[in-house]
Amino acid sequence: MAENVRVRYAPSPTGDPHIGNMHSALFEWLFARRHGGKFIVRIEDTDQERVVPGAVESILDGLRWLNIDWDEGPLVGGPYGPYIQSERLDNYREMAERLIRQEDGYRCYCSRERLNEMRQEQERRDQPTGYDGRCRDLSPVQRQEMEAQGGPSVVRFAMPRSGTTRVQDLIHGEVEFSNELLDDFIILKADGFPTYHLASVVDDHLMKISHVLRADEWLPSTPRHLQLYRALGFTPPQFGHLPMLLGPDRDKLSKRHGATSVLEYRDQGYLPEAVLNFMALLGWSLDDRTEVMSAETLKENFSLERVSRSPAIFDQEKLLWMNGLYIRELTAEDLAERLTPFLERGLPKELLPVDRDYLLRIVPLIRERIKLLSEAAEMITYFFQEEVDYDPADLVQRGMDQESTVAALRLARDEMTAVKVFEHQLLEDTLRAAGTTLGLAARQFFGTLRVAVTGRTATPPLFETMEVVGRERVLSRLGTAVVRLTSSN
Ligand code: GLU
Repeated sequence: MAENVRVRYAPSPTGDPHIGNMHSALFEWLFARRHGGKFIVRIEDTDQERVVPGAVESILDGLRWLNIDWDEGPLVGGPYGPYIQSERLDNYREMAERLIRQEDGYRCYCSRERLNEMRQEQERRDQPTGYDGRCRDLSPVQRQEMEAQGGPSVVRFAMPRSGTTRVQDLIHGEVEFSNELLDDFIILKADGFPTYHLASVVDDHLMKISHVLRADEWLPSTPRHLQLYRALGFTPPQFGHLPMLLGPDRDKLSKRHGATSVLEYRDQGYLPEAVLNFMALLGWSLDDRTEVMSAETLKENFSLERVSRSPAIFDQEKLLWMNGLYIRELTAEDLAERLTPFLERGLPKELLPVDRDYLLRIVPLIRERIKLLSEAAEMITYFFQEEVDYDPADLVQRGMDQESTVAALRLARDEMTAVKVFEHQLLEDTLRAAGTTLGLAARQFFGTLRVAVTGRTATPPLFETMEVVGRERVLSRLGTAVVRLTSSN
């Protein structure tokens, strides 16, 4: 197989890069890389009405974010370009003409009204819907008359009316289709643009694609494509239809199930390597155990033999779990760098810019606690603020009163003023002793200190946190706490 493997990802730029679509891209890419082949991106924009401005950029952004690199395609070019179908129209028109000449295709003049009536009639009779072939049988004279009228026309493919078309699918095995159930589909529209069927067959041929890997929903189109290959005299590529992604309710993955654009995952603070790993396991497995795998391992081990025939269930919880796992594996430097854009968005403006060295000291305190990069800003705001905000009543722990709370804050303040080095172990030893002196349980004393220093009831380990917040700010917050308590009545 080696060097001739050429696999394409052929998105239609109709919106944001859908996770299901990127899932196909990932499998296509892994297959190409596994076999030392080429991965090609081709933009299928022949359905001009559905093209969304900016969608090509979003799709490429999605690929780049996941670190899926392409050898040929938009921006990088390549020997079989252009890689945007709207720039390749001549190829399709030429092929359509050729099919007409060979009588494997014909012009169809049926109006929309006629086609609607035909369909309604078919539905009424409980027949399969599809073009009934009226224009296929026009005599040369009738055809000339229609042409003379100058109305719009499309080009249809003349499907064999009997027999079967067999698809040898790399994942599903042999799948047979009865030709009479496949109608004479349109290959060139009235606007001169090809349909997906013609364009993809022509391009897969001209771009020397060896393996067409794509989502399962395209399997029913494959017999049409094989007939086009036959009529055009092209050798068809091999086909493999990849499992679709379903939500937990087994419906096709959609907005209802959560984020569907891969860029939303980026913006929510997922790591691309976690998303990539997670997606690779949707409908593929290395063995029956291994879950955490680098892109390298995936590229070395991906195989179609282990791709499942049935749809895969997209489990957000598992993705979140995996993201947390990947976050915990990052070095402080790496995590700090990845957090920075989220902090720039999430922290109050006046606290920016974020000091990198300071952030590097905070990061180890939250690394175990966040599952998403976007959670950090909210969690660490108090490290950056001068003073923190809270309800003074929160300072008073169960079994304490205002007086004992003030006494606790004052003693803590004195002890922390005196401590030689503002370091967490020393702080802990000193404050534990002070707690005993006060006759308070650790829960009470440290509870009060936690609220005073951070404004929160739950934080990363208290003494490490105080060390990073620093003596000056800790002392000042303790002072403020006393003031708030004594002036609140
Ligand atoms: N343009 C089609 C899509 O967006 C590609 C189908 C195929 O890979 O042949 O899904």
